[in-house]
Amino acid sequence: MVKGVRFIPEEKIEEKAITLLEKAEKQGIYQFKSCTPIDLIAEKTLKLQIKFANLNEDLEGVLGALDISNKTIWIDNSLSDDDNFTLMSRCNFTIAHEFGHYILHKKLYNEENIQLYHYGDNQTNAIKNMETQADRFASYLLMPTIPLMRKLSSINQNQPFEKTLFELTRFFKVSKEAMVIRLKKLGLVDPSYKQ
Ligand SMILES: [Zn+2]
Repeated sequence: MVKGVRFIPEEKIEEKAITLLEKAEKQGIYQFKSCTPIDLIAEKTLKLQIKFANLNEDLEGVLGALDISNKTIWIDNSLSDDDNFTLMSRCNFTIAHEFGHYILHKKLYNEENIQLYHYGDNQTNAIKNMETQADRFASYLLMPTIPLMRKLSSINQNQPFEKTLFELTRFFKVSKEAMVIRLKKLGLVDPSYKQ
C-alpha cells in the first residue's frame, strides 16, 4: 500500500509544470511560444537520462519507467521511431509523464520503492491517483496555456476544426486525444466532442 499519495490540486500540478518551463527558459532552452523541448529539459534542466529498452518484454503494457536512483527514464523500444508521428507523440507524452512522477512523487519513490509495483494488472487507487497526477503534469508541460493560446490565435479560425486540431498536434508534438483533452479543459472544445 502506498501510504503517501496526497491529493494535489490541479492548479498546483499546472504550477509545477510551469515552474519547470520557467527554469528551462532561464537556461535559454525554451521560450513560451514553442514546442516543449522534452529531451533538452531532461538533459539540462532535470539532469535525467533517457534510455530505451525492451520494457514490454518483462512487463506487459509498460511503455515508460522511472529509475530514481540512477536518474534515468526508461522508454520502451517500440516508441523509438521519430519518423512516425504517432509513436513520437506517445514517446513525448510518456517522458513528460515520467517527469511528472519525478517532480510530484520523488519522495514516494525513494521511501516506498514504488517501481516494484508501479505497473501491473491490479493497480491500487493510490497508484491510479499517481498515474492521473503524472498525466496531468505531462498535459500542462507539453501544452502550456500561453503558447497554446498564442498558437491558436495564429490559426485561421474559419477553417474546419479538424484542420486546427491537426495543426496544433503537429506543433506541440502530441496526440489528437491529448490535445482534445487539453482544449476541453480550457473550455475551447465542447465537452461532448468525440474524435
Ligand atoms: Zn506512471
